Amino acid sequence: ACATDPHPARDPDDLLYRVFGHRAFRGRQEEVVRQVVAGGDAVVLFPTGAGKSLCYQLAALCREGVGIVVSPLIALMRDQVEALRQAGVRAAAMHSGLDAADLAAIRAALQAGELDLLYVTPERLVSGGFMDMLGRCRIALFAIDEAHCVSQWGHDFRPEYGQLAVLAERFPGVPRIALTATADPQTQEDLRWRLRLEDAPVFATSFDRPNIRYTIVAKTDASRQLASFLKGRPGESGIVYRLSRNKVDETAAWLNAHGVRALPYHAGLDRAVREANQDAFLREEGLVLVATIAFGMGIDKPDVRFVAHLDLPSSVEAYYQETGRAGRDGLPAEAFMTYGMADIAQRRRMIDERDVAAEIKRVEHAKLDALLGICETAACRRQALLAHFGEAHPGGCGHCDTCLSPVDTWDGTVAGQKALSAVYRTGQRYGVAHLIDVLCGEATEKVVKAGHDRLPTFGVGKDIDAKTWRSVFRQLTVLRLVEVDYEEYGGLRLGEGARDVLRGERPLRFGRDRKPVAEGPRRPRA
Ligand code: ADP
Ligand code: ZN
Repeated sequence: ACATDPHPARDPDDLLYRVFGHRAFRGRQEEVVRQVVAGGDAVVLFPTGAGKSLCYQLAALCREGVGIVVSPLIALMRDQVEALRQAGVRAAAMHSGLDAADLAAIRAALQAGELDLLYVTPERLVSGGFMDMLGRCRIALFAIDEAHCVSQWGHDFRPEYGQLAVLAERFPGVPRIALTATADPQTQEDLRWRLRLEDAPVFATSFDRPNIRYTIVAKTDASRQLASFLKGRPGESGIVYRLSRNKVDETAAWLNAHGVRALPYHAGLDRAVREANQDAFLREEGLVLVATIAFGMGIDKPDVRFVAHLDLPSSVEAYYQETGRAGRDGLPAEAFMTYGMADIAQRRRMIDERDVAAEIKRVEHAKLDALLGICETAACRRQALLAHFGEAHPGGCGHCDTCLSPVDTWDGTVAGQKALSAVYRTGQRYGVAHLIDVLCGEATEKVVKAGHDRLPTFGVGKDIDAKTWRSVFRQLTVLRLVEVDYEEYGGLRLGEGARDVLRGERPLRFGRDRKPVAEGPRRPRA
């Protein structure tokens, strides 16, 4: 798109096929491309896999000058540049991984007008020297990828993104296009304001991924639950997310010992090992990659058949982005999650221990609450997920666990009162296991030693089994009626609102924990 134009035609339809090999636009791609080619700004909200990159890549090729793409991820830049070069596009990426000679070569190409697309990190873009250099170039557009990073409401806040607002002032005539797959209405609003894109039209498509089936179950034994989930899908490729490196290693080893081919992926592995495992996953069929969230950004493997979370993700956005890596080819795929009380406590602790402002912690707790609400909902999971992204869905999707086997609910007012009173009478510092012993009247050594066998609460919960009590405590935690004290070894204390329950002023209804949904109809294997 520069001085010496390699493309005789600037027609989007023509370039779509000749450069990218696609016969037709998807969704709202064409509208976005036309808007930007005509010189307008755009905010693009498409779900993962919808084809956001094409929007700015193609628009840049249709305009004079170089398209500048701001991206936070070096790995993603490299992949895209590689693919673009193979398609004959003059693309380059400027990042910290390059040496001085590489950087000088890119600068020279940029100044000579010999680049169609240049990927940069936000830090580099806003650095003084770079801005001045851009001032002397012809610029086709600015694309701001992963634009939710500009917002503190987003789940991946990056302060460097805040400075991108200067683009509007420094380059008033250059179209700007911001793209993200993860924006709830609050984040959308915030990113448009922070990037000075308040007046830009928003191009959004439905976030629904109809081919993904959602299942969320209470955690009993994560490994065994995963094994029974995997049983019906031999030879399928999938990703298993775990929170820590240790757990990744453990789960990968466990799977291999149980006849499932699995490889680990986390930042603690040697780079060579990590890359080899990722390549194997991308190339081979029927491999399970057990990973921390370090894996996945920008990975484009269309036939991932399932994504399993054995630990609770940080937010609905993170959950949706991670599960969105399943079924990009449109064929049936599964999103499976197990979570329990320990997960909630751990997430809360991670937030509290972060070295950030109280306001940000408050937002992160609220985001966790939103995810927990979806985990515990008795209504259609898909409806709840989409509602989070500001999208109305009638519910009853018929393709999530709550639709396939409706959640039984029961009047938990009395059980809730008993549980809360056990917390209170034992001094608000004991963990769930001990509290359940007290409720079920188990005179264990610890119970007797603490004198808890003489409490009026001792044995009042015999009518309910320990597993159900566990579910009760988890749901009380989700409702914030109890809080987990990490400093006190996971002891529980009463939360706000607990007193209303104890006084009989607040009725409770609990969902009954279920087993994972039985095997649905499977896609015939090719
Ligand atoms: P996103 O950034 O929205 O997650 P990508 O830009 O990575 O999505 O695109 C996802 C996949 O869809 C890529 O493999 C891309 O080649 C493909 N794709 C994009 N646009 C089209 C199209 N119009 N027709 C067919 N495939 C497309
Ligand atoms: Zn549903």
